[in-house]
Amino acid sequence: MKTLKDINFNNRKALIRVDFNVPLNEKFEVTDNTRIIAAKPSIEKILNDGGSVILMSHLGRPKGKEEQFSLKHVVPELEKVLGHKVTFVDDCIGEKVKKAVAGLNPGDILLLENLRFYPEEKKGDEKFAKALADLGADYYINDAFGTAHRAHASTSVIARFFDKDHKAPGLLLEKEINSIRKALDEGKKPVTAIIGGAKVSSKIGVIENLLNKVDNLIIVGGMAYTFLKTLGNKIGDSIVEDDKLDLAKRILSEAKENGINLILPIDLVIADKFSNDAQTQIVDAQNTPEGWQGLDIGPKTQKLLDKVIQDSKTIIWNGPAGVFEFDKFATGTEQIGLSIGRASEKGAYSLVGGGDSVAAVKKLGLTDKISYISTGGGALLEMLEGKTLPGIVALSE
Ligand code: AMP
Repeated sequence: MKTLKDINFNNRKALIRVDFNVPLNEKFEVTDNTRIIAAKPSIEKILNDGGSVILMSHLGRPKGKEEQFSLKHVVPELEKVLGHKVTFVDDCIGEKVKKAVAGLNPGDILLLENLRFYPEEKKGDEKFAKALADLGADYYINDAFGTAHRAHASTSVIARFFDKDHKAPGLLLEKEINSIRKALDEGKKPVTAIIGGAKVSSKIGVIENLLNKVDNLIIVGGMAYTFLKTLGNKIGDSIVEDDKLDLAKRILSEAKENGINLILPIDLVIADKFSNDAQTQIVDAQNTPEGWQGLDIGPKTQKLLDKVIQDSKTIIWNGPAGVFEFDKFATGTEQIGLSIGRASEKGAYSLVGGGDSVAAVKKLGLTDKISYISTGGGALLEMLEGKTLPGIVALSE
């Protein structure tokens, strides 16, 4: 597979699939520009070579053409981040767009309208993909890691229409893949993964893959209660997936067979209701009474996890340790972030991904300490599951 660095874009036009699926406020202003900043290196490389850039992305989940999801809202922030004028065209295929592409001069940037205004995008429609491929670009670059796990028209199918010398991953996509591999496949031991979040069911694949890769597997958040229950602990009204109790048991015994240290919470912050103004108490993990539910890990667990994290050379974190949206139950998640920050300062390689964990790291001002913060949610999870992503496969076919 070619990389972006192998290509000289002088006098060439590159169609880049970026991930500008950014949050907007009620005035349609971008409230978090992380994804725009992440796309900057590829855009700059092409412009510096003397090429021009056509940017295409989705934004939100429009049902047809809905003004509120127009990518025109992104233009001011994009121009600010790039320090460069951006021309917007209010469609992503067809004669109007072809004309705009034909008129591009070296150094120009053109942004196309939301790909998902066409339902064909998500369906991976070949005709639609061909229409994108026929806009007049010389190269197709995929830099949208956030959607690389989808076989959509612009993320995967379009690659069929460019030969292998005329398509490549962007610098962000390349960095994401390399960073995840560095942690998952080439991580210095001890390797510790911290997996949290609401449900076991959404992360079974990740947990199973990690069972062959890590030395310590820490399971926190709502999903921990299914494991605690299968071990015979009283979990009161805590979130649980009763149909996953056998699976949890199997994972626990597999971890044992593989010699993996699987760590569950040893104490909990429990609440009498699912609310920020609930009554709370701290109990050992065996003893959540009926009428109470665990909404965070307790102080003993935080200390235990800190010790494991400080002793690790590679750390992977995805998913919160509690209902961190409520301040009262955010401490466990924040302490994990701080522990990882400290371990990273001492030289551990740390990879953090997933909206909630990344939000925690940002809130704590730890972004510079973490070795790599992934821009992917679902795509990161699929990489952690050991899957090859369609967006990446398509570039090498
Ligand atoms: P996920 O999307 O699977 O990563 O899950 C994230 C969600 O898990 C967050 O919205 C948290 O509020 C929720 N969560 C974490 N811990 C718990 C818990 N103990 N009980 C209920 N929900 C939880």
